[in-house]
Amino acid sequence: MELAVIRRQLHRIAEVSGAEYQTAAFVADFLRPLQPAVLLTGLGGTGVCATFDSGEQGPHLLFRAELDALPIQEINSFSYTSLSPGVSHKCGHDGHTTILLGLALSLSGKPIRRGRVSLLFQPAEETGEGAAAVLADPAFEAIQPDRVYALHNVPGYPLGELLIRTGSITAAVKSMVIAFSGKTAHAAEPEHGKNPAGVLARILLALDELSQPDTDRSDFQLITPVHAVLGEKAYGVSAGHASLHLTLRAWTNEQMELVVAALEKRISEICGESDIGYAVSWTNVFEANTNDTELAKELALLAAAAGTPVTMLSQPFKWGEDFGYFTQRYRGLFLGLGSGESCPALHNPDYDFPDALLDKGVGLFRLLVEATLA
Ligand SMILES: [Zn+2]
Ligand SMILES: [Zn+2]
Repeated sequence: MELAVIRRQLHRIAEVSGAEYQTAAFVADFLRPLQPAVLLTGLGGTGVCATFDSGEQGPHLLFRAELDALPIQEINSFSYTSLSPGVSHKCGHDGHTTILLGLALSLSGKPIRRGRVSLLFQPAEETGEGAAAVLADPAFEAIQPDRVYALHNVPGYPLGELLIRTGSITAAVKSMVIAFSGKTAHAAEPEHGKNPAGVLARILLALDELSQPDTDRSDFQLITPVHAVLGEKAYGVSAGHASLHLTLRAWTNEQMELVVAALEKRISEICGESDIGYAVSWTNVFEANTNDTELAKELALLAAAAGTPVTMLSQPFKWGEDFGYFTQRYRGLFLGLGSGESCPALHNPDYDFPDALLDKGVGLFRLLVEATLA
């Protein structure tokens, strides 16, 4: 079967994070006849992992793709539009999954001579939960790869161009929810209550001082207000509670720790001065993807020698990608693969993964396999 046909089948059955049941079943059914040495299902939820084993000593490489789609209504009119209302593959994970299935076909047709290759189909990337769930799954402990690899298609760059970087390649991103608790009072007598409005305003104004938005600097850090609520639409009541949702990003995990500490200190000071209680919780946590310098340089040379155009990125991508949990734990690389200058941006309702990239993705991964395990 042509890879484009597989990709379009996956595109039709798009499922949101954590509910990739049909997609995972499709992947497992595809892999089973290829007879991997191990086929794990239900990993970290709906994850699937197939291990191809040469039976000989050698490194264990892991390649990862994502199974999930997004809660976005597709506006394209091609023949293979998503059958799930309000849900579609607008990050190209259908393409990434197909690339890994293509690699499985290649490994089955031309087996490795030494070592092992694991192909991990991970759930729930978009919510930042899937990678952590897979790593926490006791079944994953048997895998323990020596090197880990993943790629993401990147619109705006020439089709098939390899985008690579040493150190951070995607930002550390996480979101903070602050729940403020004061005390309601009659709106005519706010002095008898504790209205968190002032605290909310002061914190919002403080965000600019705590941000360093110059992306050319290594201490880039950005705090973006995303949602806020104060009291109720009860016009006789002075508000007694509020909540504020912020998304933070920084180029490295270390820089993220610094901005978090500074922000928490400021919140504590402001709330303390006004005697407003608060509780902080975190959601959508993405660690920065940190590329191994040696592996990045090796691959850049290898790809160039194979005729693939290579761009060394001067700064990381500003988006978060939860493969960072893997690159924090294992030596590895997160790679960008250009999906064309005219390709609509990721998460846009008209985006679609370009099928012309499928063979290029399989070729790139096969190159890594050949260089290490052939
Ligand atoms: Zn995405
Ligand atoms: Zn994605």
